[in-house]
Amino acid sequence: MKVIGIDVGGTKIYGGLVEGENKILRTKRGFTPAGFEEGVDFLSSLIKDLIEGEEIAGIGVGVAGFINFAQGIVISSPNLPGWSDVPLKRILEEKTGLPIFMDNDVNCATLAELKIGVGIGKKDLVAIFPGTGIGGGIVIDGRLIHGASFCGAEIGHIPIDPDGGPRCGCGRSGCLETLCSGPAIIRSTKRPLNSVDEVHLAAEEGEEWAIAALKRAARYLSQGIAIMVNALNPEMVVLGGGVIEALPKMVDLVRREVWSMALPQALKGLKIEVAKMHGEAGFMGAALLAREKIMGVS
Ligand SMILES: [Zn+2]
Repeated sequence: MKVIGIDVGGTKIYGGLVEGENKILRTKRGFTPAGFEEGVDFLSSLIKDLIEGEEIAGIGVGVAGFINFAQGIVISSPNLPGWSDVPLKRILEEKTGLPIFMDNDVNCATLAELKIGVGIGKKDLVAIFPGTGIGGGIVIDGRLIHGASFCGAEIGHIPIDPDGGPRCGCGRSGCLETLCSGPAIIRSTKRPLNSVDEVHLAAEEGEEWAIAALKRAARYLSQGIAIMVNALNPEMVVLGGGVIEALPKMVDLVRREVWSMALPQALKGLKIEVAKMHGEAGFMGAALLAREKIMGVS
């Protein structure tokens, strides 16, 4: 079976034609155009390019934002202005004549880690992706959780310091992502840095300020992880995203901190692992979603 998976993010749209669970036949990507109509036009042409004479069973689409996955509606998206209350599934089904399946982009990436990534065989898993913000995905008993109003697993908005913490894009203050996302780490250094890579390089050279920023971010991230570990008792925590890729030292720091914070009983057998998939996790997960729905697995 061949399906298409598409990852719609605030800056990029990345799609792939996938055969079976994980064979990528071709990919296509581009910058996310401004506006919903323009976005749909871009998606239609990307789908056309990916199909190119192939027999496709369906299309999975992961979108950054709050998604009513059951009805295929983008409820709202902080990163995609104009994409609010839009019936993307119906629109794309009319344009392509193919069944469309939708979920949140991070849920798709989590599904990819669960099925073909580092979490193969796991039933209870929490995935956290610190990057520009912090995305999260939760799998309980083999299934992604979506919550009562489609905003389950918003781990980045766990209130760590609601009274004195920095203002968050969500309207609250002191959320986890205001303390250990990429921009938060850069801000904490009080230096005019362009990326967290510079923190990594400086820390490697023994610069105190960089080591302090790394430790501070790792401590906050560990707090968020320990909260999830105590609440859900997962078998595995998967860490991915731009911050983890740029700051690999973070992972060992986090392992140590989480082991000092979470309930000892919840830590029994717990693994904290780095995500295996990288930029392709979103569209691969969207493709898996489509495949599973078509096969009636989930
Ligand atoms: Zn927030």
